[in-house]
Amino acid sequence: MKDFSIGLDIHGVIDSYPKFFAVLTSMSWAQDYHIHIITGQEIEAGGIRKKLSDWGICYDFLFSVSDDLIEKGLLLKRTDKGPWFADEHWDSAKAEYCAKHEIDLHIDDSPIYGKHFRTPYMQVKSWQQLLKLQPTSSP
Ligand SMILES: [Mg+2]
Repeated sequence: MKDFSIGLDIHGVIDSYPKFFAVLTSMSWAQDYHIHIITGQEIEAGGIRKKLSDWGICYDFLFSVSDDLIEKGLLLKRTDKGPWFADEHWDSAKAEYCAKHEIDLHIDDSPIYGKHFRTPYMQVKSWQQLLKLQPTSSP
């Protein structure tokens, strides 16, 4: 049987609620699930490994859309916000990675990337809203 694989975005997902994802990834590892961290940022320039370590995130694979597109020669320019790529390459990159690696569920906050996915995609809309929810009292 194929191992279950989860993809997790960082910006807007893990960094919005790192304590929750530390628990989720730890529990997933205990079930032998594979965790793929799939981020837009460059790994070295973004200090990604240190951030994940500081947050206590367990993972097996780390993929950077920016690093991948730069390696493919698709960098258009560098801006104050980082490297810049054509939308057609940027918007579908996570979907292509997830299809190639047969990711069973990718969790992301982008309303744009999802339409490119052929594998399951879950969009997180607002962790802040979720965290404000209070448990209801039992009747
Ligand atoms: Mg994001």
